[in-house]
Amino acid sequence: MRALVTGGAGFIGSHLAEALLELGWSVEVIDDLSTGGIENIVSLKDHPRFSYVLDSVRNRRLMLELVDRADMVFHLAAAVGVRLIVEQPVWTIETNIKCTEIVLELCSRKHKPVLIASTSEVYGKLNRAKFSEDDNLVLGPTSKARWCYAASKIIDEFLAKAYYAEKKLPAVVVRLFNTIGPRQSGEYGMVVPRFVQQALENQPITIYGDGSQRRSFTWVGDVVQAMITLIQQPGAYGEVFNIGHTKEISIYNLASLVKDLTLSQSEVIFVPYEEAYQPGFEDMGRRLPDISKVQKLIGYRPNLDLPEMLHRIIEYQRTRIKAAA
Ligand code: UDP
Repeated sequence: MRALVTGGAGFIGSHLAEALLELGWSVEVIDDLSTGGIENIVSLKDHPRFSYVLDSVRNRRLMLELVDRADMVFHLAAAVGVRLIVEQPVWTIETNIKCTEIVLELCSRKHKPVLIASTSEVYGKLNRAKFSEDDNLVLGPTSKARWCYAASKIIDEFLAKAYYAEKKLPAVVVRLFNTIGPRQSGEYGMVVPRFVQQALENQPITIYGDGSQRRSFTWVGDVVQAMITLIQQPGAYGEVFNIGHTKEISIYNLASLVKDLTLSQSEVIFVPYEEAYQPGFEDMGRRLPDISKVQKLIGYRPNLDLPEMLHRIIEYQRTRIKAAA
């Protein structure tokens, strides 16, 4: 089996590439390094079944060749991170929509199974205890840049479903909830790598808002295994699946847990949203997935709990800090 992974030098993409290689697949990665980093795939570079191209998915001619020589395509190349999205909405919208259009069109032409990575952001401001795939999607107004990310991913989802319905393209969509693990960068706003780094450096741990907002965090290894199973499962084609963890934690409690686990001297501070992002920024109070659909189809369940995930991330960060010193 040969996989093409777009965005394969990113956090999730590089873990996916690694997992596929371990399963005996050949893996080709395309990444423009806009948010990914070559250091994420440096350990794979010498692997005999691994290759990579540093270019954009928007390079349609190149993509035609890459899709042609792959058996399956995992499309992960996208704008990521709330901070980046509010700062660069043009780039976000164009990247998310144009790249997915190209991937779906070429996969359809070559009839290659494709997995499109979407996001729990599409649920927007929906106020429910748990989000199910068929729930309404409730976005904020176009005056708030944050929602352009969800809107662009919703178009990607519609397009994937349309290709399945009209052209019988074997396409599956996954809505990823907050995914964490080694190699995730805090640079684009993600909370766990930021808190861990702040704690290890005894810098203030920055809670945005009052910290009562809740999230559920999933181990990247659990997420990529689900992706690999789903793309090979004909029953998944044309469908959308939540992938996440069923336990949630408030951001305040997350800050305390990180502080405890790192034995940090950091103080915990509260930063108003308008300072952290931009005036009028809207956050979501809760975001917990209903995972019964993916559980039923492939028996998915998250294996790691938060303290164990944090423990591994802290160890990873400690090693990095030591190596850099
Ligand atoms: N957050 C925080 N401090 C930070 C970074 C993020 O309190 O330094 C909050 C953020 O406002 C959100 C939650 O942590 O409520 C998760 O943020 P992240 O960007 O990781 O994911 P998302 O907002 O997409 O769930």
